[in-house]
Amino acid sequence: METVLYHTISEVKEKVREWKRAGLTIGLVPTMGALHIGHASLMKAAREKCDRVVASVFVNPIQFGPNEDFDKYPRTLEADVKLAGECGVDVVFAPSPKEMYGEGIKLSNDLLTYVCPPFDYVDKLCGKSRPGHFDGVCTVVNKLFNIASPDFAFFGEKDAQQLIIIKKMVKDLNMNLEIVPCPIVREEDGLAVSSRNTYLSAEARKKAPTVYKALCEVRNLISKGVDNREILLDSALNVLDKDIELEYLEFVNISDLSISSKVTLKNLIVIAVKLDGVRLIDNIFPKG
Ligand code: AMP
Repeated sequence: METVLYHTISEVKEKVREWKRAGLTIGLVPTMGALHIGHASLMKAAREKCDRVVASVFVNPIQFGPNEDFDKYPRTLEADVKLAGECGVDVVFAPSPKEMYGEGIKLSNDLLTYVCPPFDYVDKLCGKSRPGHFDGVCTVVNKLFNIASPDFAFFGEKDAQQLIIIKKMVKDLNMNLEIVPCPIVREEDGLAVSSRNTYLSAEARKKAPTVYKALCEVRNLISKGVDNREILLDSALNVLDKDIELEYLEFVNISDLSISSKVTLKNLIVIAVKLDGVRLIDNIFPKG
């Protein structure tokens, strides 16, 4: 079937109503576009599991801070639709900010209904350096769920805090869908694939794989019984390229993002760094 590109909410809702009437299951893959093989893995997983697949492409203004990269975020809609088509996506939904939030709306919670995750989930990791980010994420994801009425929604483990927060939102608000987590897709040298990798200079790109190497080193030490945070942190700093600035390296409980007092292999190991002015995140989920 041909991939259709819709820009309006009403077009998607109409199509979804038609699918629902026919008793078809719907999978949703929310993205900000600049699609790559990481996104492709989510779209293919959705294609496998669901009768119909919607992928949204929307650079969501309300999840960006005032000094973040909203304006320069890569926008490649034509190529995105092509890749979505190759992955068997039925509908690409690419709304404008105006379509999603209305004309001239001041994007603050003075005027817009927000969905805000619990403080304990956002006062750490990426939430610490990006205040309001997860409010913006949960709000747009909630809107996309209401627009596409998916039975399944696919999210990457790459954005671990986001995935855990969205699962929490779905549970707390009794939403009628299942979240399907998808493993991180990496480049051959281990760097987690990301739309933001395109910001890296050729020089910085060579240094970036040390982020994953540091995570692997830390996991290796934990598997040997090392549970001292300082030792683990030092070992990560030894592996990270010296031009990489560490924002955080943490060991959290996967169920509720609480920081683990005793580090074990059951913890999610999460890292955020700055390289060449580019913020990169990565993690290793516990096995099993
Ligand atoms: P983004 O467009 O960056 O907002 O990402 C959209 C979705 O794709 C999110 O659920 C991400 O976690 C997921 N994603 C991005 N990069 C990867 C990757 N390298 N591997 C797996 N999933 C990814």
